[in-house]
Amino acid sequence: MARRITKEEKEERIKSLVAAILAEEEAEGLEARQETIDDIEGAMIRIGDAVAREVGVQKLARHTGGASGPHPCPHCGRAGVYLKTCPRELISSRGKVPLADAKYYCPKCRRNFFPSDEPVGD
Ligand SMILES: [Zn+2]
Repeated sequence: MARRITKEEKEERIKSLVAAILAEEEAEGLEARQETIDDIEGAMIRIGDAVAREVGVQKLARHTGGASGPHPCPHCGRAGVYLKTCPRELISSRGKVPLADAKYYCPKCRRNFFPSDEPVGD
């Protein structure tokens, strides 16, 4: 089993990620010379939202990505046939999260379904 990362290691990774983002933004000149408290709060929200969206993208990809079957039909339980992957968007309180959603077809029920519409479990 993989070793769990400690709370301190997680904080350390977030610190380095944020430091890297801030350094890049400063290099791009996105931050004003004389920052106000409002500018700083704006950056907290902007970067925080970007990180939150990326968490959504990566977690959702595990549930929606490609022909990762078998996926049972939500009505009859038979294995669905993978059709294609469609671009969709999840509207979250942190903004839109793009996702590539796999679409399946049940030959018995003659209907399409998205496995991602089912409860994701944990
Ligand atoms: Zn079915």
